[in-house]
Amino acid sequence: MNAEIIAVGSELLLGQINNTNARFLSAQLAGIGVNVFYHTVVGDNPERLKKALEIAEGRSSLVIFTGGLGPTKDDLTKETIARHLGMRLVLDDEAMVSIEQFFKRANREMTENNRKQALILEGADVLKNEHGMAPGMLVSKGKHHYMLLPGPPSEMEPMFAKYGLLALAGKMDGRAKIVSRVLRFFGIGEAALETRLEHLIDKQTNPTIAPLAGEGEVTIRLTARAESDDLAWQLIDGIETDIMEIAGEHFYGYDDTSLMKELSGLLASQGLTLAAAESLTGGMFQQEMTSLAGASKIFKGGFVCYTNEAKINVVGVNAETIDNYGAVSEQCACELADNAARLLGADIGISFTGVAGPDDLEGHPPGTVFIGIAAGGRTWSKKITLSGSRKLNRLRTVKNGSHILLK
Ligand code: ATP
Ligand code: MG
Repeated sequence: MNAEIIAVGSELLLGQINNTNARFLSAQLAGIGVNVFYHTVVGDNPERLKKALEIAEGRSSLVIFTGGLGPTKDDLTKETIARHLGMRLVLDDEAMVSIEQFFKRANREMTENNRKQALILEGADVLKNEHGMAPGMLVSKGKHHYMLLPGPPSEMEPMFAKYGLLALAGKMDGRAKIVSRVLRFFGIGEAALETRLEHLIDKQTNPTIAPLAGEGEVTIRLTARAESDDLAWQLIDGIETDIMEIAGEHFYGYDDTSLMKELSGLLASQGLTLAAAESLTGGMFQQEMTSLAGASKIFKGGFVCYTNEAKINVVGVNAETIDNYGAVSEQCACELADNAARLLGADIGISFTGVAGPDDLEGHPPGTVFIGIAAGGRTWSKKITLSGSRKLNRLRTVKNGSHILLK
């Protein structure tokens, strides 16, 4: 199977954005042994798109399009391809339901245009969009396969990695199967992890090993190709064992999990309850905890105690503690955690106090954070030192908290 990629969008031709979609797709396809011979960029113009499509069909068996699946007038990819292939566009019920739900959740009025996004080429395999509205699709006619993907990388990349590769596997010569698994790591940077795994990454083409950093953690996607699913999973198991030997101490979970999901699973399985007192994170920990279904079984509640008065008057921290040691201190973190657990009758208390930035506080630089834990009759705190933006420092503080309780 040889492939080419057609990126649709006038903003690409105007030099307003880089064609990162083509780059991402090429790397992914190389990983499963599909040769990509051409990249084309074409504007939001049906005649020129049709021309590009005809040229592509003359030389490639797989043509992948990105962009132009949106609801607006200039989004014409689907319509142009349907006309060219002589295929009908039909409403996909599942896509329609998820678009309707999207609008209901957002409490917004759905317009007729949005209905257009649920149209698929008749007979196509639908690729679910978990980060937006327009579904992707893969359709075959004669010897050709056509894959349509949305333009925004935040929608396209996870869609392709999760559903696109698998859909392609069904179409590949020799009935090859493709499977993938994500390993999630915390407490190690992307560069450090990549360095440790360098020798594996360099020599490995099947499975491919793709590290990705984001939001204070690192993931590694393993993708394998083989004659059967079983064989492909065996390849993945093999490389996973090698990776765990090298970096297993930082591994915390598979695929779509998160530190908070793992933590709530652990607490639920042990029948333990939790309470929180948050200063610099302003409730982010509690927000993430309560966004998970079933939180009421493990989470008692908590406090957002941003000022010293709130720490003293609401959570009952001793005024002398703050006078003597400051709010950004081991002592304050411990009292916050202890009091949160006691006031709410929880088995475990957790607290966050520190400097989010950008300015110093009590003589501490931004990123100085104390996380207090009260559990099993013992109270202690851990000091962490972060070096990101205010936003990232807060986010990483929450993740560190979940991670400490998890370990
Ligand atoms: P939407 O529903 O957002 O309109 P769409 O599938 O119609 O999605 P486009 O309208 O073509 O896609 O593009 C939407 C946005 O996605 C662009 O403004 C751009 O930010 C990004 N994008 C589109 N194509 C690419 C590309 N090839 N590489 C990187 N980013 C892209
Ligand atoms: Mg669009």
